Amino acid sequence: MDRVRPSRPELDDLVAYDAKELKAEVVLASNENPIGLPSEMVARLAKRLPQFDFHRYPDPTARELRGLIAEANGLEIENVLLGNGGDELIFNLLLAWGGPDRTLLDMPPTFSMYGIDAQVTGTKVVRVPRLDDFSVDREAVLERLADGHIDIVVVANPNNPTGGLTDESFLIDVLKATDAVVMVDEAYFEFSRHTMRPHMTRHKNLLILRTFSKAFSMAGLRIGYVLGHEEVICELMKVRQPYSVDAFSQWVASAVFKERMVFEQGIRDIVRGRDQIMHGLSMHEEVTVFPSEANFVLFRVEHAAALWRDLLHNHSVLIRDFSRGSGLEDCLRVTVGTEEENRRFLEAMADCLAHRKANSTLAAGERL
Ligand code: PMP
Repeated sequence: MDRVRPSRPELDDLVAYDAKELKAEVVLASNENPIGLPSEMVARLAKRLPQFDFHRYPDPTARELRGLIAEANGLEIENVLLGNGGDELIFNLLLAWGGPDRTLLDMPPTFSMYGIDAQVTGTKVVRVPRLDDFSVDREAVLERLADGHIDIVVVANPNNPTGGLTDESFLIDVLKATDAVVMVDEAYFEFSRHTMRPHMTRHKNLLILRTFSKAFSMAGLRIGYVLGHEEVICELMKVRQPYSVDAFSQWVASAVFKERMVFEQGIRDIVRGRDQIMHGLSMHEEVTVFPSEANFVLFRVEHAAALWRDLLHNHSVLIRDFSRGSGLEDCLRVTVGTEEENRRFLEAMADCLAHRKANSTLAAGERL
């Protein structure tokens, strides 16, 4: 056959996710941890590697790691589910609670996968845009929930890419206002230290998402988890691929989780680096910095796309360009790196902005 039937119409205007793997000396684009796993931990794992059962399927219930996570959160194993990164769990949520004739309430600008997974699963999306300062439009959200027929609500807290937190009292109002599953995405929890975990006992519809990709330096191995009521977890289990969380990742993540105290210093360094970046950027009057509780900082500057190119091509500093995103016009996001990377970014910014000023003065002079 020299032709193929079209795929589902929902996919027509979707473009496959492009992580924009560009090369640069300083990579601050994907909110990863700038430091890898501690070398002693890697050495210990390496020693045991020859005995690893590569030829066996993983434990589909991942009992060891789920048990560790449950215990640390004062929960039972039935309240925890692992995924191939948080991304897979978001997709599972859309598979279980979304679909045709079902609706997701989204609060853009936010993490793009919520909307993408909704589209892939044929789920309708109701968008309640954030306000100009990127805080949630509380009244509009509660009003829309009061109208009913919402199956899923997602709130990234802190929000990506904007960085701010939504306060707990509003999230409690949301949990009370709807019987939809409310997923509070705490991918950056280890940096913000704010969690809805204490409210789980009172709200069966609360689902908390976390990941090993950020604070725990494991973005390359893909482990995320959700904490939720056992009935919610049970439904998510029905749609998941049994072996999506491979044995190697389970093994490494268990070692990481057992020794998670080792990451505390790195987290403190990232928080300090974030504050230095916010301060450094705010020194430029032409830059608007949005306060962040995560491991990245969003800022707005005129002609952001040109600045992004200048940083990459003339300074080999790669950050994320959101300037074409709805509500994110002229916005760029920088991930906090090592002290040296943060310094290089700030120096590069200062240089690009100084050049820009010099050029505009020159142009104004020429016009005279
Ligand atoms: N939620 C948010 C808000 C994120 O920013 C990310 C990663 N960028 C994820 C979930 C998913 O992370 P992962 O799949 O690496 O666990």
